[in-house]
Amino acid sequence: MQGFEKYYRKTWHERLEILNKHTISDEQVKILKDGAKNPELGETMIENFISEYHLPEGVALNLVVNGIEYLVPMATEEPSVIAAASHGGSIVKKSGGFKAETKSRLMIGQVVLENVSDVSEMQKELELLEKDILKVANDAHPSIVRRGGGARSVKLKILADDLLALYLAVDVKEAMGANMLNTMLEATAEFLKSKLKSDVLFAILSNYATDSLVSAKCSIGVETLAKNGVDGCEIARKIAQASRVAQLDPYRAATHNKGIMNGIDACVLASGNDWRAVEAGAHAYAARSGRYRGLSTWNYDEKKQVLEGELTLPLALGSVGGSISIVPLVSVNRQILQNADAKTLGEIVCSLGLAQNLAALYALVTDGIQKGHMRLQLKSLAKSVGATADETKILVKEMEKRKVRDSVHAREILKEMRENRDE
Ligand code: NDP
Repeated sequence: MQGFEKYYRKTWHERLEILNKHTISDEQVKILKDGAKNPELGETMIENFISEYHLPEGVALNLVVNGIEYLVPMATEEPSVIAAASHGGSIVKKSGGFKAETKSRLMIGQVVLENVSDVSEMQKELELLEKDILKVANDAHPSIVRRGGGARSVKLKILADDLLALYLAVDVKEAMGANMLNTMLEATAEFLKSKLKSDVLFAILSNYATDSLVSAKCSIGVETLAKNGVDGCEIARKIAQASRVAQLDPYRAATHNKGIMNGIDACVLASGNDWRAVEAGAHAYAARSGRYRGLSTWNYDEKKQVLEGELTLPLALGSVGGSISIVPLVSVNRQILQNADAKTLGEIVCSLGLAQNLAALYALVTDGIQKGHMRLQLKSLAKSVGATADETKILVKEMEKRKVRDSVHAREILKEMRENRDE
């Protein structure tokens, strides 16, 4: 685009001036400037920095994981998510909280070889080189070895007659490990090129972090589920049935999993971790059977009178690295999270996802989702049609009374309110 040549080389102020000249007003430049609380940091984190995008952050209560109660910081723009997480957490807390475990914490990366003339022969050659490959990978990142981590194993897979993938599993200790792994994989690729004269197509970490699976479980006494005269057993049965639908129908599974990720993403983001990586891994795992399914399952045990929930997903999280140690708000959030190490953070996040899921299913099979969502959504709607803070309260009440939820009605009522006030 004209005027944006070498934009990345400009200073922050120059970038804003160029935008001002071509697209945005003086007032809008002020919004960008006011939004940038720490431009120096922003410039070190991303390219073409112009401002900071702020999301509301709140804290979820009542989350008990492996006997410890946590406050959970959550960054989200969606109404009701934090209320739902706290509600789900409080139901499970009455029955002893979540039990969570981390099966392993290794990151996987791959080197893909192309133009392989005999993939079986190449596989045999690579098998003999396992020790050398591990050494090359570790030599590329000696500091992780000193921390007690490093490359642990090599696996191979024939992808096609001409393509072979090598998977490297690495203990990344407290980091998420993407950059670390990419360094090790690129060194491995160079080694394979020189040793076997292989054509390397690419070398990169995989976000399908199946060696970083985290599980959370809970067992809820059905008596705690009773609501407005509806028997807890009936609610437990319906929650289990809704979970069954998420196993059978991808249309439901996608929404079921979106609800889980409402909680997971919000905490992953607040903890300074890479939520796109977590999202990618979660949805790939949901489709591991060849069909996209709900990530969590709920079963109603009629004999024991309990509702049992379980959620397992890959969670490649870190307590160091990336933006974690450089963004001041992240260190506050880490303090709220009791400075959880990477393993504990994964267990908190997984439990939070299950709490979120429980609250969503509970609302779905009792009052419906809209009731809980509505108040905050009506507030946003009132704001979007131009209501002031004082007007918003009255407008929301009036919309609830008249059972309307759209901007046409909101504008009409606001107009009425203002006319009545001016008379
Ligand atoms: P860093 O590159 O920041 O590496 C973490 C560093 O933390 C290590 O190199 C290590 O350096 C240091 N460290 C300090 N204490 C420890 C400890 N106890 N355990 C482990 N390391 C420690 O981050 P990651 O490699 O974790 O990569 C995460 C970042 O990569 C994220 O920002 C992510 O968004 C991004 N990314 C993600 C991709 C993806 O998901 N596909 C692709 C590319 C990037 P030292 O030992 O030298 O002190």
